[in-house]
Amino acid sequence: MYNAAICRYHEIATKGNNRNFFENTLMDNIRFFLRQEGREKYFAVRKVQGRIWVEKTDRSDFSQPDTELISSALKKTYGLSSFSFIIKTAPEMEDIRAAAVKLAQAIFDNAPEAKTFRVRARRSNKNFPLCSKDIEIDLVTAIAGALGERHFTLDLDNADLTLGCEVRHEFAALYAGETHCPGGLPVGCNPKVLCLLSGGIDSPVAAAMMQKRGCAVDFITFHSSPYTPPETEDKVRELAALLNTYQRNGTLYLCNLLPLQKEIRDKCTERLRTVLYRRAMFRIAEKVAAAAKCKALATGEAVGQVASQTIPNLVTISAASTMLILRPVIGMDKNETIKRSEELGAFEISKLQVPDSCTVFAPSSPSTSVPADIAAKEEKRIENYDELIEEIANQTIATAEVPEL
Ligand code: ATP
Ligand code: MG
Repeated sequence: MYNAAICRYHEIATKGNNRNFFENTLMDNIRFFLRQEGREKYFAVRKVQGRIWVEKTDRSDFSQPDTELISSALKKTYGLSSFSFIIKTAPEMEDIRAAAVKLAQAIFDNAPEAKTFRVRARRSNKNFPLCSKDIEIDLVTAIAGALGERHFTLDLDNADLTLGCEVRHEFAALYAGETHCPGGLPVGCNPKVLCLLSGGIDSPVAAAMMQKRGCAVDFITFHSSPYTPPETEDKVRELAALLNTYQRNGTLYLCNLLPLQKEIRDKCTERLRTVLYRRAMFRIAEKVAAAAKCKALATGEAVGQVASQTIPNLVTISAASTMLILRPVIGMDKNETIKRSEELGAFEISKLQVPDSCTVFAPSSPSTSVPADIAAKEEKRIENYDELIEEIANQTIATAEVPEL
């Protein structure tokens, strides 16, 4: 029945001179999500008067699989605020009426509990012979006539079902309801960042929040194979694959931190290990980020969550890197993060318990306040510290992969 989808966007509508860039990035992302093997140019994605339109290139009606594909694509497109499937007809009252009746029949059949309805009309074509109110009266009369036996009543304020009608110069559009999209900015309109992705709850949420601000995200995870099992890496692969459904092909860098952890275990003070691991993670991440052309690092750290995330330790950990470190969940409490994680679809994966790299040789009582100069002095006890960081980073870059669901 539907032959087009109309997509709405808010925030990018305020971008002044950059507006074209934002809109083009948004359309490119929609095209990418709608790609199907062996079906090049099956859909057309166009911009018309502040809205984005999706139609089939041959302008025929969408099939059920078409609407499912479009729906799942648009719901994952950052930058969009909502979309509606529409019936697009000629801007003639007779065609509009026929489409309205067809649409009403279909949506009322799907909503057996609905008792009231209304029609909301708008016309941007001021030369159209009927004004908005007259269009509404015409369509309500036609629908009531066609569906009379179902005893629907008109309710202008609190209708169970609302039919929208928009009359433009070139065509008219009829739709029922709108589906919410995630909002934010289109991925790719801001520089790429490298997210330190653990298998936990916070870091996938942090990655998603950066995507929502228009940053494509690459991922780096630290494991300690064979002290951590293959499941540790698989879990992160799965999370990265999920996050990749919101963007194009983010790369996952799998880093084995064990050689450095052994040095830290053997040469440094036990209570400082966690902070020293973290500083090493940032140093390696910074090198990988440079190679991957990422302009910042992102983490799922939240103030006070664990010993390594006290303000003094965050200062000391941050001092290891000169790169901008983004911490989008820094002020969130665990329940808020869990809610976001559930919305993202990550929680079911994150909640599985697998060993984490940070717990390998972890001290029973980690220090909650390690001054940066003390941490630096401890690192000097490892003679080939810088070489080791360099070596591990290069090894990590060489084994990158792109996880897909
Ligand atoms: P949780 O939800 O269990 O708190 P988490 O991912 O937040 O999991 P933390 O130990 O709190 O784990 O680590 C804080 C942040 O440091 C993470 O959000 C992540 O960005 C980074 N991090 C920690 N461990 C790793 C790891 N093994 N690989 C990559 N990044 C890590
Ligand atoms: Mg955490």
